[in-house]
Amino acid sequence: MDCIKNIVICGGTHGNELTGVYLAKKHGWLLANQAAAAACRRYIDKDLNRCFALSNLNDNDNALESARAREINALLGKKGSENAPDFILDIHNTTANMGVTLILSSSEPALLQISAIIANEFSNIHIYLQPEKRDESPYLGTIAKSDVCIEAGPQAHGTLDAELFFKVERVVFRFLELIEAWNNGALPKISNFETFTEIRSIDYPRDSGGNITAIIHPALQGKDFCELKNGMPVFMDFDGKEILWEGETCYPAFINEAAYYEKGIAMSLAERFLHS
Ligand SMILES: [Zn+2]
Repeated sequence: MDCIKNIVICGGTHGNELTGVYLAKKHGWLLANQAAAAACRRYIDKDLNRCFALSNLNDNDNALESARAREINALLGKKGSENAPDFILDIHNTTANMGVTLILSSSEPALLQISAIIANEFSNIHIYLQPEKRDESPYLGTIAKSDVCIEAGPQAHGTLDAELFFKVERVVFRFLELIEAWNNGALPKISNFETFTEIRSIDYPRDSGGNITAIIHPALQGKDFCELKNGMPVFMDFDGKEILWEGETCYPAFINEAAYYEKGIAMSLAERFLHS
């Protein structure tokens, strides 16, 4: 990867994820969904962070977020073009117990190395790989040639948490310093670190009417990035009956994320890799 020069930091892509909303206001960063932030809602008409596939940007749907996505795309220099930013850092919150998770859309060595250094310097940082076909990925960060999404939790949407607020702020500024070090050929090397690669997401058990019929099992609640093995409890139905995991050993994340009930996601499953 060449020098990373043209950098955009943004928050409030989801208007009720207040760490990013207030960091963006504090530092003059891009407040992505201003209307949703003013209303303290995730979105007004549709999820802004699902509007940035090239096919979305090229259609003329008149939802508020579709119009805002086209506006941001034009403002930042256009996805897929030479003028697109080199790098976007997009700040989110999650209700899941994910600490500060750095989500990389590719395993680009500079960004992986920077993330590994941050994971080594701060406590409770996770590196999560979510490989994307960039053109058709709907995430805001994919406007840029490369991106990292920061997820900070657990934090209820519509609230702030001082510890997470200042931690995310420090992580962002450290990320920028390390980009500078990369640009100067002076990025330190870290060799022992772990990453999680997303395999797929799973939904809650539902009845034929689409109603949820079970809850995240109390033994799994808050256990993001912990090992889930065949036979361990994963859900509990409304009568208290346990539902056990029947599948591969994996590491769940986004467990019980509030915003994902509507998306049919109870958790995402990842594989763990140790880099040495
Ligand atoms: Zn979000």
